Amino acid sequence: MNITDIEIENILENEQKRQRDSAVFIASENYASSSVRKYTSSILTNKYAEGYPGQRYYAGCEFADQAENLAIERGKKIFESEHINVQPHSGSQANMAAYISLLNPGDRILSLSLDHGGHLSHGHNVNFSGKIYEIHNYFLDEETEMLDFDSIQKIAEEIKPKLIICGFSAYSRVINFEKFRKIADSVNALMMADIAHIAGLIVAKQHPSPVNIADIITSTTHKTLRGPRGGIAIIKNSLSKKYDRGIFPAVQGGPIMNNVIAKAVAFKEASSEGFVQYSKDIITNSKLLCGFFKDKQLRIVSDDTENHLMLIDTRSVNLSGAEAEEKLNSVGIIVNKNAIPFDPNPPRITSGIRIGTPAITTRKISENDLLQIGELIFQTLTTSAKKSTYIKQEVNKIMNKLPLP
Ligand SMILES: *Cc1c(COP(=O)(O)O)cnc(C)c1O
Repeated sequence: MNITDIEIENILENEQKRQRDSAVFIASENYASSSVRKYTSSILTNKYAEGYPGQRYYAGCEFADQAENLAIERGKKIFESEHINVQPHSGSQANMAAYISLLNPGDRILSLSLDHGGHLSHGHNVNFSGKIYEIHNYFLDEETEMLDFDSIQKIAEEIKPKLIICGFSAYSRVINFEKFRKIADSVNALMMADIAHIAGLIVAKQHPSPVNIADIITSTTHKTLRGPRGGIAIIKNSLSKKYDRGIFPAVQGGPIMNNVIAKAVAFKEASSEGFVQYSKDIITNSKLLCGFFKDKQLRIVSDDTENHLMLIDTRSVNLSGAEAEEKLNSVGIIVNKNAIPFDPNPPRITSGIRIGTPAITTRKISENDLLQIGELIFQTLTTSAKKSTYIKQEVNKIMNKLPLP
């Protein structure tokens, strides 16, 4: 059967055009390579492979075993780790398996609050994590808007958590994993690093690695790592069996084998010289834009960026985060509204936008074009809607020149 589904084709054609014509600054998005996309749609989608290589609950898994073993070998190599689980369907599920395998319901977790840059799956009350565990939060320093290790230490001593989580969704600074380790040790807690956002930077050695520091490391594979949608977990040997059982059979059934093999492809891509350059360029571009916005008197949270993203305090242009997101979206510049530390506005409004450079760097944008888009962002945020047709055309002109992978 090879029937073209016209309705689906129409949707995809429009989405393709949207992805090509717009300037994507969503910090968690990227453009996967054509090979990652090709292997994501491979015939392994047909195969059930519950269990792990060599110990499956289904027959006919010899090639699924080879695929998963290859993903595991490549994953261990790029992360320089002793153990990796490549089966999590997503970052959230990688986290769920971590809690299920290492904690009991009601145990205490200490994590960064969502509105300071944490993630839903780190214990927010609308998420499973907040419903099952007793969550306590630490916060960024009000002055510097950076991690405040003295205060984290203090809270850890008061709370005595079983698990301390670091690794964030909207934090623009380098994370000092050693300091989290010290705090965790001082209160006898386990330490988890969720590197969903920065995994690619870590593999390319553009951010310190938590491997051999954290007890458990979870990640997505589709953000800076630029692989297929999915998750992974890197676990120290002594906990690896427990964790593997946390994924299967505790929170998942069969792995999505077509995604597992595409993860193997992404790991190979991430071990190339080109990927190191790509990761350096992500940060260069992020710093370039950040400097530009600062020159324009936009307030940047913590005043700088050291990674792939920054938060702009949109109060400096008299807009809420939601208004800024909407204005930019209407001219083909895609960002997301985001709470900033100590945000007075509710989550659906917010006072900030998050700007990330992984996707636009994959498009191989030049510094000139990037600054031009920076200027268009500034104009969109500061001038009336009258100019928006013109701005949208300019954005399309720049992005149209840059091929999609
Ligand atoms: C994106 C993200 C996740 C979750 O990823 P999903 O694949 O969307 O479930 C988990 N943790 C952090 C810190 C993230 O940024």
